[in-house]
Amino acid sequence: MTRKTPHHKGTKAKKASAAALLLAWYDKHRRDLPWRAKPGETADPYRVWLSEIMLQQTTVTAVAPYYRAFLKRWPDVAGLAAAELDDVCGVWAGLGYYSRARNLHRAAKVIVSDHGGRFPTASAGLRALPGIGAYTAGAIAAIAFNEPVAAMDGNAERVVARLHAVEDELPKARAKLAVLGQALVPAARPGDFAQALMDLGSSVCVSKRPRCEACPLASLCEGRRLGVAASLPRKAAKRTRPRKRGAAFVALDKRGAVYLVRRPEKGLLAGMFQPPLGPWGASFPTPAGALSEAPFTGSWERKPGVVRHGFTHFELELEIYVCRFRSRPNGEGFWLTPPEFASAPVPTVMRKAIGHAVDDDLPLFVGRAG
Ligand code: SF4
Repeated sequence: MTRKTPHHKGTKAKKASAAALLLAWYDKHRRDLPWRAKPGETADPYRVWLSEIMLQQTTVTAVAPYYRAFLKRWPDVAGLAAAELDDVCGVWAGLGYYSRARNLHRAAKVIVSDHGGRFPTASAGLRALPGIGAYTAGAIAAIAFNEPVAAMDGNAERVVARLHAVEDELPKARAKLAVLGQALVPAARPGDFAQALMDLGSSVCVSKRPRCEACPLASLCEGRRLGVAASLPRKAAKRTRPRKRGAAFVALDKRGAVYLVRRPEKGLLAGMFQPPLGPWGASFPTPAGALSEAPFTGSWERKPGVVRHGFTHFELELEIYVCRFRSRPNGEGFWLTPPEFASAPVPTVMRKAIGHAVDDDLPLFVGRAG
């Protein structure tokens, strides 16, 4: 049920005071993040872009080492555009959602070929680049180019939903929240405002128990006044993800090199490396059925347990078969030694599958987003 609330009323009046209060708070409490320009410094759009793409679906703590490694290897957009895609995916491996790495690389090439190596300075131009949606375009435009535009990620949506007591459910409420969020953006310091909203959402207006007593917006907050803040934003019930099951075949040589194949260039985990897999279905194949899909004839052993991995639209469970070969059989794939494997574009789920095959100490059930 939708409760009638005055969330449109007073929007303009709120703008000046909310922005002023939030910016004053930010000046005292801003997070020191590796990609963030220091006060008074001009933000580098390449760094903002890189960090914002990495931070999608991933935490600040998980991103920091990847961000540093990326920047060390490709300090600017021209360097990234000239890189091999496999190298980019290799450094990205472990962060998950690999289409982000491919789009990053594609966008770098477009920036170099179509924009003379310089980022478009307006959010509309940024949105035309591969992998850049409304949020990322807003964040880069506001932070690096001072465009007074909102950057509405999950944190910003939560703060705005509470501030205006928006009770409509996500994802439907998103358009309304974007309008309300945009109305709050000040003409001066829009980049700091965007970052302030991100910081407030991640440290004060947190999802389960908002710390309203520490919030600079408390005096303006409708959600707090009505006592509904903690339950906002409302979310439509999640549908359970279907489960797919299959077998992975980890072939090793006597030195520990692993046999891998490359995934198709389109679709899930496009172009990444993996051990050969059987088809996926609603249930696991029988051992005989699984072994009919093995890449080579050999003494395959099924490891106890299952490797489990959550993708956006389904859960994957893999049974792992392992076989050690005295001499390498030939197939359509290729063999990678452990050092080569370390920097190869092998996604997390496939690293877990291989880890499970070679290390009995790993947990039997492995689940990680990405
Ligand atoms: Fe969030 Fe509470 Fe601040 Fe409202 S007062 S914005 S609910 S932390």
